[in-house]
Amino acid sequence: MAGGKIVIFSAPSGAGKTTIVHEMLKIKEFNLAFSISATSRKPRPGEKNGVDYYFISAQEFKKKIDNNEFIEWVEVYKNQYYGTLRSEVERLFEMGKNVIFDVDVIGGLNIKKAFPDRSLAIFVKPPSIEELRKRLLKRGTETEESLQKRLKRAEFEMSLADKFDVIIVNDDLQKAIDQTRNILAGFLLD
Ligand code: ADP
Ligand code: 5GP
Repeated sequence: MAGGKIVIFSAPSGAGKTTIVHEMLKIKEFNLAFSISATSRKPRPGEKNGVDYYFISAQEFKKKIDNNEFIEWVEVYKNQYYGTLRSEVERLFEMGKNVIFDVDVIGGLNIKKAFPDRSLAIFVKPPSIEELRKRLLKRGTETEESLQKRLKRAEFEMSLADKFDVIIVNDDLQKAIDQTRNILAGFLLD
């Protein structure tokens, strides 16, 4: 697969990675495009099919697994599948883009393994699990059940932080954005 460089963002849900990724996509000289994942979870209010995710049924998702259409996929939460489609990454590379991924920790480490010589894997770390809980509550997108699922998985995800190339602690958002911009400038603009 020909193409540009790869930047992977992983973090526990609520750590702020979507916010940081959106800021990086605004920086024109980075020439980044977002890899739209497929998922079997339902869209949140405001999320659009083909923009935030390709929303498909669990049945369709499993068919794509069988057809070997994914570079990587993970059942992040019970019955909620997420995965990176080969066709998506090929589409963005053909456009001459560097590709940015927002994936769970296992997916992030697997993408790094698939593209070892041209990827940078960044872990976004919340200041604490308690702060993560507050952010998820403030975002207002989770039910009590999905909040608990996310916090439970967060502890496992935090334990894998050291396997990433870089850890950004997202305490003060502006500082985290500035730090991320500097790191990406070093990686993408050399
Ligand atoms: P993720 O993509 O990692 O699940 P989001 O980017 O959706 O996380 O951020 C979760 C919530 O926390 C959002 O409401 C966002 O506005 C907020 N947030 C992000 N960074 C910070 C920060 N440094 N301090 C306080 N709130 C933050
Ligand atoms: P959310 O439901 O909050 O959008 O995402 C839940 C988790 O799934 C997040 O950690 C997000 O990064 C991860 N995720 C999104 N897309 C993918 C993907 O294509 N592959 C993997 N492995 N995880 C993904």
